[in-house]
Amino acid sequence: MSIAENIDLITSHLPTNVRLIAVSKTKPTELLLEAYQHGQRNFGENKVQEMVWKQEELPKDIGWHFIGHLQTNKVKFIAPFVQLIHGVDSFKLLKTIDAEAKKASRIIPCLIQFHIAEEETKFGFSFKEAQEMLNSTDFKSLENVAISGVMGMATYTDSENQVRKEFAHLKEIFENLKSEFFPGNADFKDISMGMSGDYRIAVEEGSTMVRIGSTIFGERNAKQSAI
Ligand SMILES: *Cc1c(COP(=O)(O)O)cnc(C)c1O
Repeated sequence: MSIAENIDLITSHLPTNVRLIAVSKTKPTELLLEAYQHGQRNFGENKVQEMVWKQEELPKDIGWHFIGHLQTNKVKFIAPFVQLIHGVDSFKLLKTIDAEAKKASRIIPCLIQFHIAEEETKFGFSFKEAQEMLNSTDFKSLENVAISGVMGMATYTDSENQVRKEFAHLKEIFENLKSEFFPGNADFKDISMGMSGDYRIAVEEGSTMVRIGSTIFGERNAKQSAI
């Protein structure tokens, strides 16, 4: 199957309110261009340098989504152009994004990443930590970030039940934050959840953005993924 056919097949399973982020990490720009020529405009990357050189090389109407763990000292390189930062996993990172967005005269949309999986290694806030941040005066003074929703990754497991439970939990976190901190704020709208292996479950549980890589571009080899 071609990249175009893969995109069509995935899109045919997505309700119209769910956006497809094509996760292109480790893939050469020719493949991104193939997706672009088929109409794909949102791409996800998890390494700062890679996203920067791809952004320089490719058409300027692409929306670049940063989906991985972002180091504070690298925010400045993507602040001028990044469309959405999915993985805000600490208050320190959010403050840095705010400062760099200010220098770039932008307001950068961000998603708060929540730890919903069983695995220890995944980054993210707990609900209580997010409440503390959102209640703080420091948070209220930030002017160059816009919190536009939440992001999470489910446990890597064959248990559909567990994955479903974790996505349902993220949806519940979203609803609770919306009523407590963002009532009537139309900008707080996105739930980024679902990857190649679990996006159909994520969509059933209320995802508005799926981040899909290997089902579009093919498997990444282990060495490349580990970079
Ligand atoms: C790599 C990655 C994806 C895409 O994974 P696939 O299984 O290839 O679809 C989605 N989200 C994040 C955060 C990733 O790092």
